[in-house]
Amino acid sequence: MPTILVLEDEKALRDMLAFSLVRAGYQVLKARDCSTAKALISESIPDLLISDWMLPGQSGLEFVKELRSDEALKELPIIMLTAKSDEDEKILGLEVGADDYITKPFSKRELLARVKAQLRRAPTKDDSSLTIGELSVNFASHEVILQGNEIHLGPTEYRLLEYFITHQNRVFSREQLLNRIWRNNTEVDERTVDVHIRRLRKALSVAGYDKFIHTIRGAGYRFSHKTAL
Ligand code: CA
Repeated sequence: MPTILVLEDEKALRDMLAFSLVRAGYQVLKARDCSTAKALISESIPDLLISDWMLPGQSGLEFVKELRSDEALKELPIIMLTAKSDEDEKILGLEVGADDYITKPFSKRELLARVKAQLRRAPTKDDSSLTIGELSVNFASHEVILQGNEIHLGPTEYRLLEYFITHQNRVFSREQLLNRIWRNNTEVDERTVDVHIRRLRKALSVAGYDKFIHTIRGAGYRFSHKTAL
């Protein structure tokens, strides 16, 4: 039973979130501010954090940033709740390290879908290969098999695919992808990301698997083989 920590200062919303999550079979811890959340996390790391953006004292955004600077919490899935539908704000949330965001008001169904997506995130690369449907990526040999045939990707497209497949259901901004795939190459700009995404999609399209790469308007890209989101 995964444990979800809900950080929300508004009592009614906090209780509603907890109620919905408990009913869906999760164990829930509640916190009304960052210091309470911090204390709970230091006792035991939850499987997922849902954090409001606007909180008294330290904001959710600052809190997520702080958590991500802790090596032990780098992989903790985090969903931000935001009342802001402003795209820049969403990107900011993702850039400090949130994995996804939910804009208020949201339905219970949307909440549970996003929670589920974060909790079923792909295993790490320690496994030597990963298969989704008829797409298989071997992390040691860099071999990519699609419907029984090897497909040949450029080195950047391979790195993108490997990154996506090991970080499924998360939204990445172009800047995040630049940092993670291209490392410190300052020569490339964000349009480069689009170019390589296009190439990767084209390579995957022979089997219709390009649909796994979702363009999230105003935010970036998400790789997901669950089209429901
Ligand atoms: Ca709030």
